Amino acid sequence: MKNKEINSVRTPVYRDSGFELPTAATTSGAFASETSHEREPDLYIYSRYRNPTVVAAEEAIMEIEGSEWALLSQSGMAAIDIALSIFQEAGRQSNWLFFSEIYGGTLSYISSVLEKRRGMEVSFFRPANGRYDYRQLESALSDIRPDILYFETISNPLLIVAEGRRVIELGKKYGARVIVDNTFATPMLWKPLEDGADLVIHSATKYLSGHGNLTAGVICGNDRGLMQSAIEYRKFVGHMLSPDDAYRLQTQMASFNLRFRQQCDNASAVAAMLKSSDRVSGVLYPGLESHDTHAAAKELTGGRGYGAMITFDLAGASPEAKRKNRDRFIAAVYPEIRLIPTLGDNHTILMPVESVWGAKYPEPGMIRMSIGFEETDRLTDVIKRGLGS
Ligand code: PLP
Repeated sequence: MKNKEINSVRTPVYRDSGFELPTAATTSGAFASETSHEREPDLYIYSRYRNPTVVAAEEAIMEIEGSEWALLSQSGMAAIDIALSIFQEAGRQSNWLFFSEIYGGTLSYISSVLEKRRGMEVSFFRPANGRYDYRQLESALSDIRPDILYFETISNPLLIVAEGRRVIELGKKYGARVIVDNTFATPMLWKPLEDGADLVIHSATKYLSGHGNLTAGVICGNDRGLMQSAIEYRKFVGHMLSPDDAYRLQTQMASFNLRFRQQCDNASAVAAMLKSSDRVSGVLYPGLESHDTHAAAKELTGGRGYGAMITFDLAGASPEAKRKNRDRFIAAVYPEIRLIPTLGDNHTILMPVESVWGAKYPEPGMIRMSIGFEETDRLTDVIKRGLGS
């Protein structure tokens, strides 16, 4: 094929594992400059190091996150591994403080990798009565003086919204680096870097890609040194995203604002409908005034939206009756709403909380629903059917 100029408006999928280097002299220059870990390399060498399709997707994320750097990885967990591992130093004794209400996979990573394999010391900060007590957080920070403070903006499955600005301010006051998992809130609701967070991570598997068809993670930041360490670590452990997934992520992100807006609007409509049903004994949605952290959510997001996750309890006279009603709801909303253990999909999907978290949340009729961007009336009709009304 002749080397024609093809005016594609998107960066194509560069699937090459290695890129051609013209001469021995260029090769030594390329390897020397590669170790400087610039945001965009001058020459591409090897796709585990850097890949042009991945860099193009990173630039699309930088735009929506308003960050100077973004770094993609092959899963949200890989992003978390990178974001935390760059702060580890051999022989340095430090205690890291994590909010307890974080993704179960992150909790498993903390216990199985950080504590068990790497010998780290970690502490947890727990909510009380459905919200965080910031005086307790301050006293934990002042006692522990952690190097790292890590939290999720909206917790799972109780959807407790943190007063993010206050958490960052307190973390900084006691000398911690602050890392925010902003997967549930997305940059549409809050951009933690603007309020001083050191790193923001997302499972891009969820709302950023938004169609349940790829697994990816991203770390965003403005600190050149930290992000360069992250690029280096990603290379050494091989956490790089594939160019095919980067291409799909980049194109799907073009509709992120439209999609997530509709998801938040749908969630508000569904939450109001569940709240008014006598088949439902409780609804957790930060957009409802009855939610313990509604005021925190309103303050944090400026009322731009309250996310697209809803957790609710099917009513029943006994635990068995509640389970039966839960199962009836799941059967009645099928096939439009299916039981799929992820979130941030284009369709509304659900998960029975007891089956995943066991007795941690003692409401056997509890369901967590991830709201999609279907047409609102069609979605509310399906929920009505589920409630038998
Ligand atoms: N963070 C949050 C809040 C999540 O919900 C998840 C996964 O569900 C992750 C991180 C991990 O992301 P991934 O599954 O893409 O590795």
